[in-house]
Amino acid sequence: MANNKKKNIYNYGECEVCDTPLEEKYIKQDFWIKGELIVIDHILAGVCPKCGEKVVNSDIGHYIGELLKNTEYIASAPKICVPIIMFDEFKKEYSILPMDSI
Ligand SMILES: [Zn+2]
Repeated sequence: MANNKKKNIYNYGECEVCDTPLEEKYIKQDFWIKGELIVIDHILAGVCPKCGEKVVNSDIGHYIGELLKNTEYIASAPKICVPIIMFDEFKKEYSILPMDSI
């Protein structure tokens, strides 16, 4: 029975920023927890097609809150490797503007 359940449409209402109706989508969201970057993938959320504002319903928000507190679960998750760039160094090396204007 659970298998032929129709997609659960939740009414996210309109974007708080620009009043555009939000569309339900799976998103990837990053969280900084005590200086550590955590990415949660496949979160069902309402996304503004115009400005990109994202909201989740309270159930999803609750699960995310629980997940972010579950350090054991987080520690056992697969890791990704991401670039981190020192912006000052990039500007120095690839300066496209006269130094005075940076
Ligand atoms: Zn918007």
